[in-house]
Amino acid sequence: MKSKIWLSSPHMSGNEQKFINEAFDTNWIAPLGPNVTGFENDIQSYLNEDTHVAALSSGTAAIHLGLILLGTSKDDVVLCQSKTFSASANPIVYQGATPVFIDSEKDTWNMCPIQLEIAIKDQIAKGKRPKAIIAVHLYGMPYKVDEIHTIAKAYDIPVLEDSAEAFGSTYKGKKCGTFGDISILSFNGNKIITTSGGGALVSKIKEIKDQAIFLSTQARDKSVAYLHSHIGYNYRMSNIVAGIGRGQMTVLDKHVELRRKNYEFYSNLLSNQDAVELLNEPKDFHSNRWLSCILLDSYKTKELLRLEFEKENIETRPLWKPMHQQPIFSDCKTYLNGVSDDLFERGLCLPSGSNLLDEELNRIYKVLKVFFDLN
Ligand SMILES: *Cc1c(COP(=O)(O)O)cnc(C)c1O
Repeated sequence: MKSKIWLSSPHMSGNEQKFINEAFDTNWIAPLGPNVTGFENDIQSYLNEDTHVAALSSGTAAIHLGLILLGTSKDDVVLCQSKTFSASANPIVYQGATPVFIDSEKDTWNMCPIQLEIAIKDQIAKGKRPKAIIAVHLYGMPYKVDEIHTIAKAYDIPVLEDSAEAFGSTYKGKKCGTFGDISILSFNGNKIITTSGGGALVSKIKEIKDQAIFLSTQARDKSVAYLHSHIGYNYRMSNIVAGIGRGQMTVLDKHVELRRKNYEFYSNLLSNQDAVELLNEPKDFHSNRWLSCILLDSYKTKELLRLEFEKENIETRPLWKPMHQQPIFSDCKTYLNGVSDDLFERGLCLPSGSNLLDEELNRIYKVLKVFFDLN
């Protein structure tokens, strides 16, 4: 059996172990310590724009705390991009609130501004002013930031920016992760940089960061005795995994470059194939190309190609199944235009790791060459 080629696998720089050893040498084996603070500072300097960052145990935890800090509670409506990973939407349910899903547009595959405004007007007409909007930069491609945020401002609804897949992407020269009233990042094992598991909450307001840290460390009031006036969570990042994060921050830009090269590799091979559509960057959009994705001309072609890769032990994956198609969310109201259903039918994510070897790219090339009869 040929060795497996993964869709996206961890890629260590060699700098991580030093920070982990420091944690052991100084006995900072805890969900706080110099690596946690150092990692937060590294992210803040990378993002700029006067950001304040709280390092947490996962991106999902960051979304959950983000919703709490935006005041989401029982019976609130939260608008969420339908085409995303379920972790974007699950925390809405943790809060006892109701997800309402918004379809995508074709240019970026992200939240459709037209459907968003229709949804806001309709929900307000029903007496349900949405509490927050969760917009996602899927596969690293920024959503239409100006359009989405203009609508959000017009109706005075805060945006929770899910930048889990878009660390290193930019829109009009500004980094993704800095656009939301609250933004989140993920460092899960398959993301562009990883701490094995981890996430961060980003805000321009220092008190929001402080509140996130407070809630993530069991909400202990300032008191000698353990006094609690809020329900707390155990969501803080460990000082060990933060050490991995500090090592990974030294190679984030390099990873973006390498992932963009993968996309170029696919684009060079496939751009003039009639059966293939690529996701090009609109002007001012700069994607980290976390995953390189293509659309085939039909569900059948997509499945045939996926199976050809599978025969060669090469992992590919359909695009995220939209939330409105998920059994857990089957009762939720969705504002649809057909785009995300179509993307799910025809879309395929191709191997995209920053650590793909030339011989692996060659194996991928061979499958594509036969399938599309490339010369
Ligand atoms: C990975 C991911 C998350 C969740 O992050 P975790 O760190 O795995 O909890 C949220 N949203 C999107 C779009 C993701 O891809």
